[in-house]
Amino acid sequence: MKVFKFGGASVKDSDGIKGLFNIVREEKDRLVIVVSAFGKTTNALEGVLKAWFTGDPAYQELLDSILTYHISIYDGLFNKKDPEAVPVRDSFRLLKDYLKTGKPEDWDFEYDQVVSFGEIWSTTIVSEFLNYQGLRSEWIDIRKVLITDSTYRDANVLQDESTKRIHEAFNDPGISFFVTQGFIGGTLKGKYTTLGREGSDYTAAILANVLNAESVTVWKDVPGLLNADPKWLGDAQKLDEVSYREAVEMTFSGAKVIHPKTIKPLHNKNIPLYVRSFLDPSQKGTLITSDPALSRILPVFVRKEGQILLSILPKDFSFVPGEKLSSILHMFMAHGIKVNLVEASAVSLDVCVDDERTRITSLISDLEAEYSVIYNDNVEILSIRHYSQEAVDRLTGEREVLLEQRTRSSVRFVVR
Ligand code: ASP
Ligand code: MG
Repeated sequence: MKVFKFGGASVKDSDGIKGLFNIVREEKDRLVIVVSAFGKTTNALEGVLKAWFTGDPAYQELLDSILTYHISIYDGLFNKKDPEAVPVRDSFRLLKDYLKTGKPEDWDFEYDQVVSFGEIWSTTIVSEFLNYQGLRSEWIDIRKVLITDSTYRDANVLQDESTKRIHEAFNDPGISFFVTQGFIGGTLKGKYTTLGREGSDYTAAILANVLNAESVTVWKDVPGLLNADPKWLGDAQKLDEVSYREAVEMTFSGAKVIHPKTIKPLHNKNIPLYVRSFLDPSQKGTLITSDPALSRILPVFVRKEGQILLSILPKDFSFVPGEKLSSILHMFMAHGIKVNLVEASAVSLDVCVDDERTRITSLISDLEAEYSVIYNDNVEILSIRHYSQEAVDRLTGEREVLLEQRTRSSVRFVVR
């Protein structure tokens, strides 16, 4: 068994889905095919939700335009001219009724009930298309299989229950192609949940782990893992093989190629992860594994934007390292703020975090009981793994460096 994951960009139109078909039909192994919502559907559903929350009736038109988009994809795939035949219509009606009759309460909860439909629609159409092309596929409703707690928008998978259900669901020996949804799950009580934006990679990794898959392949619109975001550094190069550890470091520093939670379930069972291009399936892409072949080592550049650098100073000049340090970091956690970089000196602590202003304002007001806090906003973290002086000069040349951290293998800068 192998697991293939197709992200939104790979299934943004009917040609994309035909491409998916051409890729999976070549496979000799049984496949679990994890699919994201089509194109930018998740963002569009967020728009519906926002309008609904603010009582703006425009949410209905927004939803209609998402339906029209799905119908146009459907029409490009099937030669059926009966518009009522589109299999996602009922499910759109269901969502419409939910929005019409319900009153929005908790944002995170409603988010998951509404946004999770994107994956239901995409997989319904993909599965039907594979069958239409003569591949026998089974559509699996992962909301009944991947069981999570009720931390809406960032749900945690309940391992034992999910493991049991995954074995039961992906079980029919007569099926070569299981089609299911990434990103979403369900609670024991049947409420829908999501695993965090871009979470489909993570779903693929969990399924691979439980089913002891031979490998996972994430099909993307880039040739593989690159040593920088090509929109930022035009001469970015593909990495042929990297270690799990390297991949985790890259996602932690802010590389957006795979969801950060993806690596652990694969590493635990030593399952290789391939990142390949659906635009050019003849290419090998990048292999992420425990023991990558010793290839040429390229510097890896990662940029994390939208940061704020806080400097926290005890008012009484007492030392920061020690108890103070842990109590300050606890306060970040208590406010739900993830720490991206920490630098402690004797009498100050510098912490760089995502600039989520509401949370930060309330953190600062708590800190100010004991500390003076100053901050710089509009900063970025630039990281280079396997750095050279040339690489450092290239990134920092024109920038004002507010903080620098070096280890043997990597260097990070907070810059303005
Ligand atoms: N459709 C979801 C998103 O866009 C999940 C995913 O693509 O992985 O965030
Ligand atoms: Mg997506």
